[in-house]
Amino acid sequence: MSSHTQAPASAPHFIRNIIEADLASGKHTDIVTRFPPEPNGYLHIGHAKSICLNFGLAIDYQGHCNLRFDDTNPEKESDEYARAIQEDVQWLGFHWQSEVRWASDYFEQLYGYAIELINQGKAYVDDLSAEEMREYRGTLTNPGKPSPYRERSVTENLDLFQRMRAGEFADGAKVLRAKIDMASGNINLRDPTIYRIRRVHHIRTGDAWCIYPMYDYTHCISDALENITHSLCTLEFEDHRPLYDWMLDQLTVPSHPRQIEFSRLELRYTITSKRKLLQLVTEQHVSGWDDPRMPTIVGMRRRGYTPQGIREFTRRIGVSKSENVVDMAVLEGCIREDLESRAPRVMAVVKPLKVIISNFVVGESQSREAGFHPEHPEFGSRMVPFSKEIWIETDDFTENPPPRWQRLIPGGEVRLRYSYVMRCDEVIKDDAGNVIELHCSIDQDTLGKNPVGRKVKGVIHWLSSEHALPAEIRLYDRLFNVPEPDNDKTRDFCEFINPASLTVVQGWVESTVRDAAPETHYQFERLGYFCTDRYEHQPGGKLTFNRTVTLKDSWTKEPV
Ligand code: ATP
Ligand code: MG
Repeated sequence: MSSHTQAPASAPHFIRNIIEADLASGKHTDIVTRFPPEPNGYLHIGHAKSICLNFGLAIDYQGHCNLRFDDTNPEKESDEYARAIQEDVQWLGFHWQSEVRWASDYFEQLYGYAIELINQGKAYVDDLSAEEMREYRGTLTNPGKPSPYRERSVTENLDLFQRMRAGEFADGAKVLRAKIDMASGNINLRDPTIYRIRRVHHIRTGDAWCIYPMYDYTHCISDALENITHSLCTLEFEDHRPLYDWMLDQLTVPSHPRQIEFSRLELRYTITSKRKLLQLVTEQHVSGWDDPRMPTIVGMRRRGYTPQGIREFTRRIGVSKSENVVDMAVLEGCIREDLESRAPRVMAVVKPLKVIISNFVVGESQSREAGFHPEHPEFGSRMVPFSKEIWIETDDFTENPPPRWQRLIPGGEVRLRYSYVMRCDEVIKDDAGNVIELHCSIDQDTLGKNPVGRKVKGVIHWLSSEHALPAEIRLYDRLFNVPEPDNDKTRDFCEFINPASLTVVQGWVESTVRDAAPETHYQFERLGYFCTDRYEHQPGGKLTFNRTVTLKDSWTKEPV
């Protein structure tokens, strides 16, 4: 398994306990897990939990983890999704064992196992329509009743199933069902369908098949063929476990993996359902799957979230069978903590206010060198140029200061970060009374020194207008303005989209970032963490930054 992936310090949890018991008892010597996405959409933060769990366990117990596509639903699956999923897993820092696996690699074997079931009298071809099948299935309180086709002979079933494969019947005309128990208290055991007829082009097998195996049937056999030891899935599959076990008990498969369920991650202020994320994309509420507001892995990546931060998040939220509804602040906190020591610090101004330094003297008023990170001298340093005209943040000046205001006011003083203490002498306004410019003076004795005889508490960021570079800065906020956007079944979750989830501003940045490659992280001092856009940022050209996360919890509203 990968040596360069740092396994997170592992918190104990019930799955780990099971694995450790299995190792101790000698039931298993090698742990094999798998991550089994369906290539019908991009992966989201919920999948990241499953990826970190499956690949993380394989790393921790020196086993291995397979990446296996569950490609049994050809209508909704695409190569684009399959490629993106592989890239996401790698970007998160994980490596699968040997080749990518596909459930479709096993289509021939799965067909053979179906023949085996038929031969044992444990599967039959049914001609009931989908609607009739539903009626016959019964309900939670009423047992189902057997289909009139249930007692077909093995010979007849073999013949019909072979002809299903040969394409003799229309889509939906027949299915193959496992013959289990129509009176079972578990509806999944009431003769579940295991094959259906669908004439759909498949991304890997093309038109070779017109019958496709169902998920429940495919999944357990694929696990068994790959000698998976622990098949981890989310809780909604708990009621499917008896079927998983029944199937493997009937068939001559190489192993019988143990299915273990854990709770799905739900993240407040966002959604974790591929179907709904697809709706956001197709209805153009977002610019695509990789819109930085999306909880998709590609979206989070583009926003500037780091694999390390996401992995730490999944470690912190833990693994259990109880509800796993987590506040967005926990994820943002992990990202912030990770970027804190990773991102060099520079200055940027997002809402510029022009300031003229009236006593600036060429040759006398000086620039200062500043390190990129107070705790990481190895990040290096740069000159922060000072000049007669500077930009400060509009929000750092007010004529009507609230209590405890420590930034600039008329007649007041602030420290310009890495530079002088500056006093505001004059406020220039336009005809409408808007402040358009400040005239300020610096205390020449305060470069890297405290002023004599008074305390100046406030420190603000700024840029020399002559040296600063223009940049497009995208200020992202949460995509939804309610914690559980898909909770109200009477309303479409899209009604809860936060209209202020994206604000694009033309701001200014220090020239030192001019040649930053796409996906470079910075802290813009006092503003937050930002990342050069993966696609639209042009080093040396049009600079484009995405706000990853503010410095404090963005819900305790700080001005930008
Ligand atoms: P969705 O409901 O978003 O379509 P899915 O479960 O259908 O998700 P799959 O591609 O089948 O998507 O998921 C692959 C794996 O990821 C499965 O093992 C699934 O249990 C797991 N997974 C999906 N969503 C979550 C989640 N929110 N939390 C934890 N694991 C998840
Ligand atoms: Mg699924």
